[in-house]
Amino acid sequence: MRRTRRIVLGGVPIGGGMPVVVQSMCNTDTRDAGATLGQIRELDAAGCEIVRCAVPDEEAAAALRSICAESPLPVVADIHFDYRLALAAAENGVAGLRINPGNIGARWKVAEVVAACRERALPIRIGVNAGSLEKELLERYGPSPEAIVESALKHVRILEELDFGAVKISVKASDVRRTVAACRLLAERCDYPQHLGITEAGTVRAGAIRSAIGIGMLLAEGIGDTVRVSLTGDPVEEVWVAWEILKALGLRQRGPTLVSCPTCGRCRIDLVGLATEVERRLRVYTAPFTVAVMGCAVNGPGEAREADVGIAGGAGEGLLFRHGVVVGKVPEERLADALLDEIASMLKEEGRGQ
Ligand code: SF4
Repeated sequence: MRRTRRIVLGGVPIGGGMPVVVQSMCNTDTRDAGATLGQIRELDAAGCEIVRCAVPDEEAAAALRSICAESPLPVVADIHFDYRLALAAAENGVAGLRINPGNIGARWKVAEVVAACRERALPIRIGVNAGSLEKELLERYGPSPEAIVESALKHVRILEELDFGAVKISVKASDVRRTVAACRLLAERCDYPQHLGITEAGTVRAGAIRSAIGIGMLLAEGIGDTVRVSLTGDPVEEVWVAWEILKALGLRQRGPTLVSCPTCGRCRIDLVGLATEVERRLRVYTAPFTVAVMGCAVNGPGEAREADVGIAGGAGEGLLFRHGVVVGKVPEERLADALLDEIASMLKEEGRGQ
């Protein structure tokens, strides 16, 4: 793992060898504090660790006061251009700001934002997207990784001149390979923690794949300290996808891992329906364990035995396993309930939490 400098955001340590942190962003109207808090609670339940809210105007900045007071997660205010909104957000209790100092304007305005952050120990994330590069850099480099990184470092230098180092950086593009190249280049050029994501990645399925490839490549190289999977969909899905990426790489553990077979002509139960239902019902758990839902006796018992709890389907029924031992033969219509009951008993008997 690449060693970055460590910052702390609302009590969550980032960088310096700490576990990779899962972030998401509300898509509610920030001015509607009730709806925003409702979504933050859903994100928290799914395992989100830092949440970002857009702050487009004064009303949104004012709403942050009650949002931050009640939020179970540290809130980052996402601000473009307007230093007064940044000051109001800091005043209203956010844990960090996402703002690009080069876009704020006069240096005294940047200095005021930096002073407000310093006073409250709020880190600043600089975020550069390929789609919003400065004209001069675009002319010089085109929308290349060099241009994206150069733009990010220009913003960083403004903060360094003000002796402010609690910085995290993201460099993103909707193109996976360009994002990966930009993040690698940034990692060579500085030791600030990096926030990873593929921006405008697309709808849930395509976006999850593109994000898994891009974020996964970088994490596998030890680059990346926080992640956000951007999806056109419910942000709760972003959090599930982020956790699947981290779990697949063995970087974090949270909740169950479901192993299920693709089914084939040997399968004699509705395995797709069963696996879908099991996956949905497993979402309440945060304890790590493995569940196998397998269609038949060919690979089924093997996988089901390796899992903590598993099912191997038969003709209109299934065998239930716990730690490799058959604990029951269950009719198809009761398989999901029996599996979930078995999981609940296992966790209780082994004191493994929920
Ligand atoms: S476990 Fe059985 S049903 Fe599932 S894919 Fe393998 S052979 Fe087919």
